[in-house]
Amino acid sequence: MRTQVGIVGGGPAGLLLSHLLHLQGIESVVLELRSRKTLETEIRAGVLEQGTTDLLVKSGVGERMWREGAVHHGINLQFSGRRERIDLSGLTGRAITLYGQHEVVKDLIRTRLDAGGRILFEAGATGLHDLDSREPRIRFQKDGEEHELRCDFVVGADGFHGVSRPSIPPQARTEYERKYPFGWFGILVEAPPSTNELIYANHERGFSLVSTRSPEIQRMYFQCDPDDDAEAWSDDRIWEELHARLDTRDGWTVTEGKIIQKGIVAMRSFVVEPMRYGRLFLAGDSAHIVPPTGAKGMNLAVADIQVLCRALAGFYLYNRTDLLERYSEICLRRVWKASRFSWWMTSMLHRFGDDPFQHRLQIAELDYVTSSRAAATSLAENYTGLPMELDSELPAREREQTAPSAF
Ligand SMILES: Cc1cc2nc3c(=O)[nH]c(=O)nc-3n(C[C@H](O)[C@H](O)[C@H](O)COP(=O)(O)OP(=O)(O)OC[C@H]3O[C@@H](n4cnc5c(N)ncnc54)[C@H](O)[C@@H]3O)c2cc1C
Repeated sequence: MRTQVGIVGGGPAGLLLSHLLHLQGIESVVLELRSRKTLETEIRAGVLEQGTTDLLVKSGVGERMWREGAVHHGINLQFSGRRERIDLSGLTGRAITLYGQHEVVKDLIRTRLDAGGRILFEAGATGLHDLDSREPRIRFQKDGEEHELRCDFVVGADGFHGVSRPSIPPQARTEYERKYPFGWFGILVEAPPSTNELIYANHERGFSLVSTRSPEIQRMYFQCDPDDDAEAWSDDRIWEELHARLDTRDGWTVTEGKIIQKGIVAMRSFVVEPMRYGRLFLAGDSAHIVPPTGAKGMNLAVADIQVLCRALAGFYLYNRTDLLERYSEICLRRVWKASRFSWWMTSMLHRFGDDPFQHRLQIAELDYVTSSRAAATSLAENYTGLPMELDSELPAREREQTAPSAF
C-alpha cells in the first residue's frame, strides 16, 4: 500500500490532519489501533479554544459543534470561600466552546469516510522504518496479518504511548518531564449543569473542577492520589468529597445525579525535542503532554496539525521545504508556552502536601489574578488560546501562499 502521508493514530490530531490534507488534494492513510466505537465513546477533553473552533468551522467539520456546543464567555475561580469570575470575552474578545473530544472525533471520522478517506481501524503500527530516506515505511498489523504502508512522510499522531516517538533514536531526541504527586478523579454524571460556567476550586482538601459536556451530562473532577483505585470510591463518598470542596456558604451546591463513569487520570508535563526526525513528524500527545488544568491537550494537538498541514501543503503545492524544516521550532514555541500555563494553573490550584506557606502564596496569587485586570487578562489570553505563531511570523505574502485555501 502506498500514500503521500502515512498517519499513525486516529485521535483528534491524526484525523484532523487527514481531513485538512484532503482539502488540499493531498492523500493520506490513517492507521488506528482501536475500534471506531471506542474512539467515538471515550470521554476525554472538552474545552475548545477559540482558534480550534474557528478552524473546525472554516474547514467544514464544525456544523454540529456550532449547534450543540456551549459557548462560555467566562470561568470561575473559587478559593477562601469566594467565587470570582474571569471575564474571558470581556478581557480578550474571545470565548471557549464546551464540546467533547469524542464528538469532535465523531465529526471528523464521518467527514473523512463520507469523502472516501482511508481510515484503517484496529490497525496497529508495529514499527516505523527508513525515516531518514525519501520513502519511509510503516509496518502494521490488521486482522492478524502484517502489512506495510509506504509513503512520502510519516506523521506520528499516536499519543503518549504510541510507537512513533520511540522510533526516533535516543541520541536524536531530548525529553523533558515533570510528574505531579497527584491525579484527577473524574466522573461523568447524568444531571443538569450545576453552574453556567466552569468552576476551578482551590480548597484545603485539594483541587476540584466543575465542568460540563452537554445539558444532560456533567464532568467533575477532584484531586486524588494517583495510585488510588477508582472502584474503591462509592458514589456517596464521591459526592461527599465534591460537596466538601465546592459547596459555598450562600447555599450553592453541586447538583448530584447518576454517576455513569469514573476514573483516575495521572498528571504529568512532558515535551520531546525536536518534534521531527527525517521524514517523521510528531504531533499532539506523542510529542507533548500537559496536565489538564489549563485545558490545553487537544488544543495543542490541533495547533500542531495546523502548522504541519501548512508545511505539507507548502511542500506539495509550492515545492517549499522551509516550513517542514521549521515545523518543530514553530510548534515548540507554543508547546512550551502552553506547558508553562498548564503548570502555572496546576501550581496555583492544587494542594502540594501540608505546606501552609505555599497555601498562603496560592491564595495571594488567586486574589491577585482575580483583582488585577492585567493578571486576569494574562490568564484569559492563555486560556482562550494564544495566536498562531505561524501567522505572526510570516510576512503577508508567504502567509497567503502557505495558508491552505479552505481555511
Ligand atoms: C484518559 C485521558 C483523559 C483526558 N482528559 C482530558 C481532559 O479532561 N481535559 C483535557 O484538556 N485533556 C484531556 N486529555 C488530553 C487530551 O485528550 C489529549 O491531549 C488529546 O487526546 C491529544 O490528541 P492526540 O490525537 O494527539 O492523541 P490521542 O487522542 O491519544 O490519539 C492517539 C491515537 O493513536 C492511537 N494509537 C496508539 N498507538 C498506536 C499504534 N501503534 N498504531 C496505531 N494507532 C495507535 C490511539 O489508539 C489513539 O486513538 C486526556 C487524555 C487522556 C489519555
